[in-house]
Amino acid sequence: MDLFTPLYPIEFISFGSGSSGNCYILRRGRECVLIDLGIGIRSFKRYLHQYGLKTAHFTAAFVTHDHTDHVKAIGKFAVETGVPVYTTAGVHEGMQRNRFMARKIPEGQVRKISVGETVEAAGMSFTAFPVPHDSKDCVGYLVRSENVCLCIATDIGTPTDEIRAAVSQADYVVIEANYDLPMLATGRYPQFLKERIRGGRGHLSNEETGELLAGSLRQDAKRVWLCHLSEENNTPELALATVSKALEQNGRKTDENFKLEALPRTRPIDFCTLD
Ligand SMILES: [Zn+2]
Ligand SMILES: [Zn+2]
Repeated sequence: MDLFTPLYPIEFISFGSGSSGNCYILRRGRECVLIDLGIGIRSFKRYLHQYGLKTAHFTAAFVTHDHTDHVKAIGKFAVETGVPVYTTAGVHEGMQRNRFMARKIPEGQVRKISVGETVEAAGMSFTAFPVPHDSKDCVGYLVRSENVCLCIATDIGTPTDEIRAAVSQADYVVIEANYDLPMLATGRYPQFLKERIRGGRGHLSNEETGELLAGSLRQDAKRVWLCHLSEENNTPELALATVSKALEQNGRKTDENFKLEALPRTRPIDFCTLD
């Protein structure tokens, strides 16, 4: 590489996080990579415009799993941009079957990856790791540049050694804190749905996320974003309080060197530079 070529940092944006639609973008220099597109294509394009981005800036897309809140518009995006769409064979099969995806990913753009495999895109490397959830072959991603590692782990049924190992490598972590157990238990969801959410292939509670982070997060980790908060069974305040309590019990306080935040469910956040 030319000595004078600037090494751009990775920038992270969330356009939405939760059952109404998930969408994350990583940018390095002028190139962008999409992770999940579960919000509508019109909202997505409106947000792109607000942030000075264009679909032409995208060079690849990655998918965590085939649930509609993660893939609703990924087919339309793929058709429009022509970029490769990476995920496991099981998730690609699930997307083919998903009748809420109005457009499918064109065959020539389907890229099947295995867990543990690393793919380069936009000057970043993406490594998939397995995540237990109620669809086939769900994954999270470790994203790396020369000096930074970001872990994205959403829709997690239960903390596993693979997820702990991924979190333990990261400077920045996006991780699910879906529900507060008492709110879920006393809430209005039907029993079968409560059991699905609580089950080993459902979602993580604030307590589980707190324990997972307290046991795995590096002492020099810089920032954690809690994602996929339930509208019905959680609040950002509760999620942050529960997780920060677990971290504090492990000697980890939020300060200027370590931030803990909750991603908004239905609005974008500004660019965050990972440095
Ligand atoms: Zn989801
Ligand atoms: Zn899901």
